[in-house]
Amino acid sequence: MFVFLFLVYRKRMFFVRDMSVKKLEHIGIAVKDLAASEVLFTKLLGRGPYKRESVESEHVITSFFQVGDIKIELLAASDPQSTIANFIEKRGEGLHHLAFEVDDIKSSLSEKSLEGFNLIHSEPKDGADNKQIAFLHPNSTGGVLTEFCQDKGNISLG
Ligand code: ZN
Repeated sequence: MFVFLFLVYRKRMFFVRDMSVKKLEHIGIAVKDLAASEVLFTKLLGRGPYKRESVESEHVITSFFQVGDIKIELLAASDPQSTIANFIEKRGEGLHHLAFEVDDIKSSLSEKSLEGFNLIHSEPKDGADNKQIAFLHPNSTGGVLTEFCQDKGNISLG
């Protein structure tokens, strides 16, 4: 019993932050025609999107659907130099990325980099939905483009 408590205590001391992902936050889907895809997904899910938002820096327009605890993020290119336009040209429409919520995006990125994952963004940047985001390269994540995200309201200033 004492040994067990001691181990719990030590774990608290040395693992100050839990760096594991908190949850699957959203699933990103690349689409050609946002309006047409909104109609399709509204039919499929039985509910409409709750917001549209454009992310100028990424040249994308997003549309969000809430499904239980998870969001579906439709991504359409706002101009031809968008990475989404590039993605669709190479692979067609469809599943684009999985986004995991983390507590501390900067620390999670440095941890994953040290563990050998290839980062597309070594620093977080502004994304849609009031979030800081960064992508990990699919060549190190089993072929799945992976996003880490953290609510901006949740980012410590220290
Ligand atoms: Zn995303």
